[in-house]
Amino acid sequence: MRLHRLTSTTLLVALSVATGFATYKVRAAVHPSVSEHLDTARVQSQLGNDNEAGGYAQSMLMGPKIHVHLNYGDAVQLEDCDRAVAGAFDMWETALGHQIHFELVDTPKEAEVEVTFGKNVKLKGQIVSGYINWSRSISTTTGEVKPLFSADVKLRTTDPKGRPLSFEAMRHTFGHELGHMFGLDDVKQIGKLMGPLDLRRPVSKPDESEIETVLAIRDECKSIIAKRGKGTHAQFFSGGCSCHHDH
Ligand SMILES: [Zn+2]
Repeated sequence: MRLHRLTSTTLLVALSVATGFATYKVRAAVHPSVSEHLDTARVQSQLGNDNEAGGYAQSMLMGPKIHVHLNYGDAVQLEDCDRAVAGAFDMWETALGHQIHFELVDTPKEAEVEVTFGKNVKLKGQIVSGYINWSRSISTTTGEVKPLFSADVKLRTTDPKGRPLSFEAMRHTFGHELGHMFGLDDVKQIGKLMGPLDLRRPVSKPDESEIETVLAIRDECKSIIAKRGKGTHAQFFSGGCSCHHDH
């Protein structure tokens, strides 16, 4: 699910991993695409390309407003879909101390995040409760570095037997996909937001280690942005998640 356009900075990225630039200890798993993206920001920063570094860091940070467009697809339990969305927004806004704020918008054009509900969401032929594809890059076409971020989320509205999912189950899934957007990877433990969905016991919020990890990623991005200067370069990353949630 990960595309990585190889460019001249690839070697530098590999070098930075080998020499361990990680400036913080994290307890939850960081998504590999995000680690790579952060490495690019760190390397650009070390090279003195502070504008580019800042652009990559900003595309990781997003916000402070994140605009979301909803597409209900063939969902029938619209109220539960709305409650799930509101609950997932609230769990992350609260967890991150309101550093970010989600805002629903009327058209896909205005949105960084497109959410599509569907009765039969599958990935590679397998039933999944949801998945996300995000892409982060910088644009330098205007002569100024502009951070770019977009994400596409699919959320399943029925269980594998075709029964409508509860709002709690859809909230877990959407919160989980947003967790990927903030940089977290999947874990196997049931009972964690980044773990598989247990239909009998959906999770309502990220735990301390998940929150701490996202905050550490964001703090590093902020310190990279604080160093912003000038330079030129471009690289493109995208990431995704297969989220094979067992039921
Ligand atoms: Zn996942």
